Amino acid sequence: MGGKTIERIRPVENYDTQHYWQGLRDGKLLIQQCAACGIRRHPPQPMCEKCQSLDWTTFESGLEGTIYSYTVIHYPEIPPFEYPNAVVLVELDEGVRIVAQLTGSDPDKIEIGQRVVARLVEVQDGLTLPLFEVTS
Ligand code: ZN
Repeated sequence: MGGKTIERIRPVENYDTQHYWQGLRDGKLLIQQCAACGIRRHPPQPMCEKCQSLDWTTFESGLEGTIYSYTVIHYPEIPPFEYPNAVVLVELDEGVRIVAQLTGSDPDKIEIGQRVVARLVEVQDGLTLPLFEVTS
């Protein structure tokens, strides 16, 4: 066999998103926060949906949250992911929701409301992602 390893598609890093990807490489989950009204938002975007301010800052989020929703992908099997591939929408304790992979769980035993914690894992060279695991 052998051959070239198929890699994940790299995220676009621009002015509005670079803090997020660089933060993950630095071992921090940085979430955007409006500098005008204080509302927190994820994924990163240039403008506040609430007050239309273009001014924003970031804060370092904790890594714990609750499964808000999830799906388990069985088919088609697209490299480099392993299947079944559990994808969760996690409500972080800081109040924003984030989509990520769930690892280490039997897909049949995933439940909405389970407590999870993220590990920040370098999944390929220069790309670090939060991968969640159930804690309860
Ligand atoms: Zn705002």
